[in-house]
Amino acid sequence: MSYRQRMTIAFTAAFTILLLAGGVLGYHMLDEAPGPGSDAAENDHLAAESWTSSLSDGDWQVSLSPEIRSLLTLTGAGTTRRADQLGNNPAAGLAAAGSTPVIHSEFGAALWSNCTEIRIIQLIDDAIVDPTRALGAIDEAITRLGELTGLTFVTGADSRGDTTHLGAPERDTIQIAWVPEDSVHLDGDELGAAEVWHVADTRGIPTIIRVRVFLSAQILTDYSSGSAGGGVNVETAVLHELGHAVGVGHSADGDSFMHTELGSQAGTTIADLAALAFAGSRSC
Ligand SMILES: [Zn+2]
Repeated sequence: MSYRQRMTIAFTAAFTILLLAGGVLGYHMLDEAPGPGSDAAENDHLAAESWTSSLSDGDWQVSLSPEIRSLLTLTGAGTTRRADQLGNNPAAGLAAAGSTPVIHSEFGAALWSNCTEIRIIQLIDDAIVDPTRALGAIDEAITRLGELTGLTFVTGADSRGDTTHLGAPERDTIQIAWVPEDSVHLDGDELGAAEVWHVADTRGIPTIIRVRVFLSAQILTDYSSGSAGGGVNVETAVLHELGHAVGVGHSADGDSFMHTELGSQAGTTIADLAALAFAGSRSC
């Protein structure tokens, strides 16, 4: 699979209404196969995205190996920090490792609060020929995402139908829709997209409050099944989009499953593990 990030901020009509009502911003991150001649500009924009920390971060929900602690510039047994590294600055460590957030401000990256029970709603378009496999891939990816972030996901209802017209996901919900290759929700050759809504709290810290993920049926036809984050397969492609759903953007590392292009060695790197642990560390 090949991914290219199109950093489009899509303030659609629905987002605008939410913005006026409650200070909610919409953010749109889309993946698609690479187009000719546009990668340099995309990468320039990607480099401008950088992790920032808030005072609420660092409430770790998963155990951190010495390698991960080192990358996050945390002290502790077995860690090896460079002398020139700033201590206890995970955002700087993640940025140095080539990881990026979906969105950030000076007050921190947009992340879920880790006391939030995040509801998973699954929609399978009638055009999906093997709904069992489609749902199984989401289950596998959600389980892995829970292990790597420590966030709490509660899988709710799944339903089949026409996915052309979808309402905005409810609060504290990640809505995941398997859609036809030619879905109105995906442009051209996009294989997936993640829309992330966030709101700033009184201190200005951005918090993710709802997400919608679109997955193209093409993923199911192009890739075989496997383990999420362990090679090029359907589950890894789903985990890539779900990584965006918890606030993690693209990685500059070609071996990362969060790279813009899912390379043959695509897996979970130390930086990916660190970024996902960080994504689950935002206290309420
Ligand atoms: Zn992506």
